[in-house]
Amino acid sequence: MVHAKVRHDHLAVYQSGQDESHQRELTILRDLPLSLKSGQMFVVYQPKVSLGQQICHSSEALIRWQHPELGFIPPDEFIRLAEHSGLIALVTDWMIDQVLAQLTRWQQQQLKMKVAINLSAHDLLNPELPAQMASRLQHFQLSPSALALEVTEGAVMQDPAQVIHVLTQLRDMGIELAIDDFGTGQSSLAYLKQLPVHEVKIDRAFIKDIEHNQNDELIVQATTQLAHGLGLKVTAEGLENVAGLAKLQQHGVDTVQGYFFSKPLPAAAFEQWLQTFEPSRDRWFGRSDNSG
Ligand code: C2E
Ligand code: MG
Ligand code: MG
Ligand code: MG
Repeated sequence: MVHAKVRHDHLAVYQSGQDESHQRELTILRDLPLSLKSGQMFVVYQPKVSLGQQICHSSEALIRWQHPELGFIPPDEFIRLAEHSGLIALVTDWMIDQVLAQLTRWQQQQLKMKVAINLSAHDLLNPELPAQMASRLQHFQLSPSALALEVTEGAVMQDPAQVIHVLTQLRDMGIELAIDDFGTGQSSLAYLKQLPVHEVKIDRAFIKDIEHNQNDELIVQATTQLAHGLGLKVTAEGLENVAGLAKLQQHGVDTVQGYFFSKPLPAAAFEQWLQTFEPSRDRWFGRSDNSG
């Protein structure tokens, strides 16, 4: 009897937990379209620092949602739901317009900055995407070279032929393309050569302990060599400390993104970060090491 009761309570708790998370999902999906129009969503920019030149001329745009009742909702949570429901198209359209408007302001300020936007599988399966992108770039009178797009291996694998077709059109327009979270998906290194991309972003999983974990270091070294052999640039994601930086420099990684340099920041704070970054390069890279 006692056992049965305990099991029953357990089940009840489990079910109410499930109800709660289901309720949360419904709230997220219900509020998402309006949140894009009501100022709850905003964009943050994270610098990508070139190790060779020790400059920052590129960044990644990431979405943020401050919900009035639920508080901060992580993008990993609501992007996944938006992808499953098809609402992701709204998010992507909104991001493109926010980022292109910001790029226009930066160009007016003579600030040289490329910005990368994350795309999901759903976006890449839309055959109209290249034409829509061209039309938004024209609307803002921006060169496609100001824009980069990041796609994950998983998104490519949903329908490789169709995705490669869309990516090829985007690349031929002059937009830079990167494979995001590289090393965590199901695709192989050999697959890389079929993808019309310029850059590989090695996932944070291989970077975060690189100074202690020899296997991670070997993976980063081999991936960098292979990507360079295929004519691709390499970015390391998620660098948090200076010991890791030395390893990435040693293995010839081109660009680094991570909390070590900066967390993603709202545009105004990002501009301030940029103003202090180049004058204080020694603080980041050390006085003597200019080799990259
Ligand atoms: P992602 O594209 O791989 O973005 C990198 C994530 O790593 C970001 O998380 C960033 O804040 C985080 N990060 C960067 N450096 C560090 C570090 O040194 N340490 C740690 N712990 N984390 C670091 P965020 O902003 O939470 O985004 C998570 C994911 O959500 C993104 O991964 C991307 O897949 C998705 N996402 C974010 N914004 C968008 C968007 O506008 N559209 C789409 N489709 N997906 C987005
Ligand atoms: Mg990304
Ligand atoms: Mg990533
Ligand atoms: Mg990711």
